[in-house]
Amino acid sequence: MATFSVRFLGCKVSFADAQAIRERLLADGHTEVERGGDVAVVNTCCVTHEAVSKSRQAVSRAARVHGRVYVTGCAANLEGALATAATNVAVVSAGSEDLPDAVARDVGAIGCVQADARLERIRAFVKIQDGCSFSCAFCVIPLVRGATRSRRADAVLGEIRKRVSQGHPEIVLTGVNLGCFRDREARYTLARLVREAGAIPGVERLRLSSIEVNHLTAELISALRETASVTAHLHIPLQSGDDTVLRAMGRRYTSAQFRAKLESLSDFNLTSDVIVGFPGEDERAFERTLQVVEQAGITKVHVFPYSPRPGTVTAAADTVAARVKKDRSARLRARSDELCRRRWRTKLGTTDRVLVDRPGRGYGDDYTPWLVDAEVGRMVQARAVALSKEGILAVAA
Ligand code: SF4
Repeated sequence: MATFSVRFLGCKVSFADAQAIRERLLADGHTEVERGGDVAVVNTCCVTHEAVSKSRQAVSRAARVHGRVYVTGCAANLEGALATAATNVAVVSAGSEDLPDAVARDVGAIGCVQADARLERIRAFVKIQDGCSFSCAFCVIPLVRGATRSRRADAVLGEIRKRVSQGHPEIVLTGVNLGCFRDREARYTLARLVREAGAIPGVERLRLSSIEVNHLTAELISALRETASVTAHLHIPLQSGDDTVLRAMGRRYTSAQFRAKLESLSDFNLTSDVIVGFPGEDERAFERTLQVVEQAGITKVHVFPYSPRPGTVTAAADTVAARVKKDRSARLRARSDELCRRRWRTKLGTTDRVLVDRPGRGYGDDYTPWLVDAEVGRMVQARAVALSKEGILAVAA
């Protein structure tokens, strides 16, 4: 039997992949430990230059304290990104579906003793799709994760039932490009999956991890509105508010189309991703992004300073100076903070259901952060009394 630990870097898809490896090792009879251990698995990220550096550091740290380190995930599939001289490090370049088997084969099975190991988090990230068949000019993801493919709907619904039985009240449907989900054989679209997943007894909250604006069809919006457990939150990547930059990025919408789509969703808490300093982005283009973020009713923006990724259309282009990217990133984060507070202010005096996921904090029904003193894992009714930098200060209602 081996002792092991698993960590991940990056997004919710990386988290879901790391969990699949972890569950497989537990099912094979190995023992998870907080620190040290014979084996470490590091599920990496390569979405930016910084993500690759952090992945490399995590691997080096793990190699110093573990007998054997398995490096998996996006950066492991990006040629040369994690080249290492350490003899105890194995870079596993495989698709996400094959990772649990590939790692488990090497570690060796003991016996099926913990097949129902619960995930640690309050919310469960259930993967419904992987890969992407689009080709945004900046994005390395299709190169390392391959073309889009979907899980079967019955496998997804089965996993949700299992997560509920393990005690997860919140389910997040996760994928690289969720709107591409299809189970043609069983005739499921994402909208039908949302309706059926949301109706599973015990699912108190259902969320989409992220959705492209082009995939927000009338059918999907109706499913989101008509399924009681679906949260009033959507994460819709904007990337830029300038049409010239959007075209150069290979995105398939204009800023006006983006705004128009979000107009009909003003009752949702809308969050987004923006890349700052894409080649050719001048000050006016950046100011348009600030405007669109505000006009579209977005609150939280995840800001990514552009960095060229190998193998992409813009791999050789990086025209905006680092100090300009830093300045624009700070301005966009400051605008996002203002917009969050504007929305939070409207909630003062109101009550909401808060799922407490860490000591002293949790999220309301629209994924707004609430600070409330209650037991971790509980869904509590809370009343907003004041604002802080981190969210809405609340008391039990
Ligand atoms: S839609 Fe574009 S940004 Fe998103 S994963 Fe696909 S290629 Fe990358």
